[in-house]
Amino acid sequence: MNINENYLKLQDSYLFSTIAKKVKEFADNNPKADIIRLGIGDVTLPLAPVVVEAIKKAADEMGIKETFKGYGPEQGYAFLREEIKKYYLKKNVDLNSDEIFISDGAKSDLGNILDIFGLDNVVLVPDPVYPVYVDTNIMAGRKIIFADANEQNGFLPLPDENIKCDIIYICSPNNPTGAVYDRNGLKKWVDYALKNNSVILFDAAYECFIKSKELPSSIYEIEGAKKCAIEFCSFSKTAGFTGTRCGYTIVPDELVREGVHLRKFWLRRQTTKFNGVPYIVQKAAEAVFSDKGQEQIQQNIQYYSENAKIISDTMDKKNIWYTGGKHSPYIWLKCPNNMSSWEFFDYLLNNAQIVGTPGSGFGRNGDGYFRLTSFGDKQRTIEAMERFSKLI
Ligand code: PLP
Repeated sequence: MNINENYLKLQDSYLFSTIAKKVKEFADNNPKADIIRLGIGDVTLPLAPVVVEAIKKAADEMGIKETFKGYGPEQGYAFLREEIKKYYLKKNVDLNSDEIFISDGAKSDLGNILDIFGLDNVVLVPDPVYPVYVDTNIMAGRKIIFADANEQNGFLPLPDENIKCDIIYICSPNNPTGAVYDRNGLKKWVDYALKNNSVILFDAAYECFIKSKELPSSIYEIEGAKKCAIEFCSFSKTAGFTGTRCGYTIVPDELVREGVHLRKFWLRRQTTKFNGVPYIVQKAAEAVFSDKGQEQIQQNIQYYSENAKIISDTMDKKNIWYTGGKHSPYIWLKCPNNMSSWEFFDYLLNNAQIVGTPGSGFGRNGDGYFRLTSFGDKQRTIEAMERFSKLI
């Protein structure tokens, strides 16, 4: 018996446990302190009322013999895939509904998709980055190279023709930096992938925060992308499904490598290892696309976007360099006075009782940067920025 030794190569993530430990220590020493948490990556507003109604109705159906549902289609119910197809048509992206795969969230699919790729592929991951891309490849034993995201390129690295890679991760709007690629930027990646036969794994988990039609919210808005990209999306941030769990992945039929339609490999993978998302959850996700659902989720997205503006306006006022905050719930700021990420964390906690996330937790290039999020309460965000303004 052999263990998968690749797991030994994983770096322990101390980021959130260290934050929790430091905050607890501070709170124990300062019992009266009013701590505001702007580090949270989870949503805080409840599900939209139409979504809750849909869940109740679907639960009732499950309790009646005539409408009870057992195993559903592994790829997801047609009623939900059709809604997603219509949603993409609004972006002028025409998908076939069998190119859409419903899942229990983007994180699972981003990890599981690696099953369909050979182990000797070279993987390109931006730094800093959502840690799942790195860890899932380390678990499988793939070689990872990093694309530097930094102040010079606005945390939006572009392809380097001298560096050859087979699998490319792009997250836009980005977690943690909030940076968003424009059409030109994404086109450069698509052109690179087409030329080099690479596959782009495009994480669109935050697409709903894009407010301008000028910015692409799907990689398929770029010509040729269906021949080189898989897109991952989620209801988590769009509709508050972080605890309800639903997402989807698009594998276009045109995406062919070595004579194989990757869609068929993914279908085979899913039908073998996955038994579908609960009917109740898929009915909930369907309700998101109703007129009322769209209106109600927009209210929540608007709420978070206003928080993001409160934070980014403060950065503007203080002349602090940052990315994000405009088409993203994240604000990625340069720590003042050349402080390291952890120095700034301590400084903010000790002097303003604000908790954020040190950028160094997302990669080497994250040091000296800091992530604030807009998923909190509005009044608390205002209060936090008043304290920030006084301190900095
Ligand atoms: N992708 C990115 C960039 C994320 O930040 C997150 C969650 O924070 C996910 C994917 C995971 O989404 P889900 O809840 O659908 O698994």
